[in-house]
Amino acid sequence: MSKKESKSARDLIKRDLKVVWHPCTQMKDHEKIPLIPIKKGKGIWLEDYDGNQYIDAISSWWVNLFGHSNPYINKQITKQLGNLEHVLLAGFTHEPAINLAERLIKLSPPKIKKCFFTDNGSSAVDAAMKMSYHYWKNKGFKKKSKFISLSNSYHGETLGSLSVSNIDLYKKTYEELMIESIVVESPDCYLKDENHTDKQHTEIMFDKMLKVIEKKHKEVSAVIIEPLVQCAGYMRMYHPIYLKLLREACDKYNIHLIADEIAVGFGRTGTMFAYEQSKITPDIICLSKGITGGYMTLSTILTTNDMYDAFYDEYTKLNAFLHSHSYTANPIACSAANASLDIFEKEKTISKNKILSEHISKSLSRISQHEHVGDVRQHGMIAAIEMVKNKLTKTSYDWKERRGVRAYEYGLKNNVLIRPLGNVIYFMPPYIINKNEIDKVINVIEGAIDIATK
Ligand SMILES: *Cc1c(COP(=O)(O)O)cnc(C)c1O
Repeated sequence: MSKKESKSARDLIKRDLKVVWHPCTQMKDHEKIPLIPIKKGKGIWLEDYDGNQYIDAISSWWVNLFGHSNPYINKQITKQLGNLEHVLLAGFTHEPAINLAERLIKLSPPKIKKCFFTDNGSSAVDAAMKMSYHYWKNKGFKKKSKFISLSNSYHGETLGSLSVSNIDLYKKTYEELMIESIVVESPDCYLKDENHTDKQHTEIMFDKMLKVIEKKHKEVSAVIIEPLVQCAGYMRMYHPIYLKLLREACDKYNIHLIADEIAVGFGRTGTMFAYEQSKITPDIICLSKGITGGYMTLSTILTTNDMYDAFYDEYTKLNAFLHSHSYTANPIACSAANASLDIFEKEKTISKNKILSEHISKSLSRISQHEHVGDVRQHGMIAAIEMVKNKLTKTSYDWKERRGVRAYEYGLKNNVLIRPLGNVIYFMPPYIINKNEIDKVINVIEGAIDIATK
């Protein structure tokens, strides 16, 4: 293949569509919606082969924190590459994993003492479910095998994590393959009564959870929940009081609380981890996505010594947690994660983000006036806009109209990558974005709403 040929966008697209099957995509869409080969990324910008640049306003599916090709993370990874690219984590260990485990535990509440590495978000959720179930088994509880999760929740795509997810688009087709789980109505504040505050609505909705827990606790292993924001579930949000009440109920009824912080962790909602805003300690915390600053796949579950001790026994009792992944705690991924945590410390990212999120909020406020905007909501560095057919009744557009796709295409034409979830346009930028760039993105979002709601 000649050099020139391999560098033309048209040719790359042709080659790609012959052999690559893309995630979360109806491939036939690419007959009309062009695939975009990206040549390089720098900071918040992505650049294609025709020289077009796009602001990555969704952090490449919520993973990127400090920009593409970040010089510091690059340097740390390169250093690690010179020493050790990978070694198995059973029987062996390495400094990047130990450093990362220590640092993550230090960032967690005092009761969180152990870090179990997994592979990606979905596998972290699967491992959390297995660990919780196995804990009760080791403790002599025979019936605790069910999981409670919220309607409109998303915990991943593997059979285990999809079983506790509740978005029809991803789940319904596979219903027969799912592990039976218990669904409780989400405290989603978009659906609140007009005369209620978010807090009131969240408290009222918790009653539904409490009733289910009271009735079924004997068969329930854990409640799994996305703290504060149901990200894949159209960025629907709720008040921190929910987690506080949930923690109390889980304690009272002997149920684990699994916080799936995969999307909201690492500063997304304004605190390092979203559960902090409810001042609780989950029994298991799932982390992935932003953990490596958006560089590589890695995930962990953090847990307590109480959990750990329930597995600590003579080998022959077969109580150990024999779960593993080939690339568990890959040293390069761990070094990216450590570099990302260095940046959090050095740059005081959490306090700097406060200024950015206030700016986003100010800049977005005018959009709520739009005649086809039903809601503008925000938790820290996650903002979302709900496009509606009728503002008064909050009637939504028929999903088949695919208005989000129009917004996506408008964004690209105007150098901004937004990728709406149905009728919801959201903004979840890398933390290195500046105020001017935020204004640019929000201007483009405004234009996209105009086009999409015409
Ligand atoms: C993305 C996501 C997952 C799944 O993570 P993958 O790495 O994509 O498997 C799980 N839970 C939440 C809340 C997520 O946003």
